[in-house]
Amino acid sequence: MTAKTILKIQDLTVSFFANKKLLPAVDGISFELKEGEILGIVGESGSGKSVTSLAVMGLIPMPPGKIEKGEILFEGKDLLTYSEKEMRKIRGNQISMIFQEPMTSLNPLFTIGDQIVEALRLHTKMPKAEAKLKAIELLKLVGIPRSEAIVNEYPHQLSGGMRQRVMIAMAMACNPRILIADEPTTALDVTIQAQILDLMKNLNEQTNTSIILITHDLGVVAEICDRVLVMYCGQIVEHGDVHTILKEPKHPYTKGLLKSVPDLLGKKDRLYSIPGNVPRPGSIKQGCPFAPRCDERIAHCLDVLPSLYAMESAGHEVRCFLHEQEGGVRSNVGMAP
Ligand code: ADP
Ligand code: MG
Repeated sequence: MTAKTILKIQDLTVSFFANKKLLPAVDGISFELKEGEILGIVGESGSGKSVTSLAVMGLIPMPPGKIEKGEILFEGKDLLTYSEKEMRKIRGNQISMIFQEPMTSLNPLFTIGDQIVEALRLHTKMPKAEAKLKAIELLKLVGIPRSEAIVNEYPHQLSGGMRQRVMIAMAMACNPRILIADEPTTALDVTIQAQILDLMKNLNEQTNTSIILITHDLGVVAEICDRVLVMYCGQIVEHGDVHTILKEPKHPYTKGLLKSVPDLLGKKDRLYSIPGNVPRPGSIKQGCPFAPRCDERIAHCLDVLPSLYAMESAGHEVRCFLHEQEGGVRSNVGMAP
């Protein structure tokens, strides 16, 4: 049985004004999210992951930002045509987001309970007393011990891992269809990180909420994702199911990211990092944006931007000339479902 598509992004380009020029941060990306799936978006800092998720939430600051083209279809309707008022009904209710640093998203002046109650009452007409009971139930759901006491505590009384659990509880308060988690575990230590990822996986299984998990770490993707998009310079350079991408990465960038996850390749001694930096948007005028850093570069990589080529295994596509001939079929719209 194939799951229904809940979110479909078509040819989305989001740019920012800098020195009177519009520079693309997200450059013509297309992808789909299925009901109940966990989709990873991975790439180094500056590759356009957060901008992608902010666009889905309708939270791109405009100006300096501008959605230049594309569609964001949520259950078939284009969110880009929604007014701010209509988006407010979607945010936190149908599509929720959690951020990397929970301390900046939680209000230090209010108790944990007050904040969850507010999140609940924003979208439902639930009476306060009932919302407080629901808040305790949500805290239990995300594995917070002594939740009856914790509802009356303030954010600074909790550890980083506990605060992130609270953020997840708030995001899950209204049973969203989609949860977007932007680097949710980056600020946490490894043990807590594993617990939070487990928690998200459990919530996904219990509630069938689709999750977009954004991370710079393919190790995190390996833990819980079904499918993964690899982004570089605002473009998708490779995507496919997690097993294929981890076992047979095709794009030299994906291979580089994999090499920088020590446990995956059993190399625990020295952490590899891809030489060079992500170029600034607009600084590469032609060719493959990764070519200057690529150790498998061939002559025309510096001149021509490759398309996404379909690989043999279904749904696996790679934007790299080295694989132009491989699957044979050239993908037109960018993404095979
Ligand atoms: P990632 O989340 O992958 O680290 P982002 O999506 O945050 O990357 O950013 C991608 C690029 O978009 C950045 O390199 C930056 O140039 C641009 N950008 C993001 N937000 C803004 C902003 N508010 N103003 C100007 N440029 C921005
Ligand atoms: Mg980011």
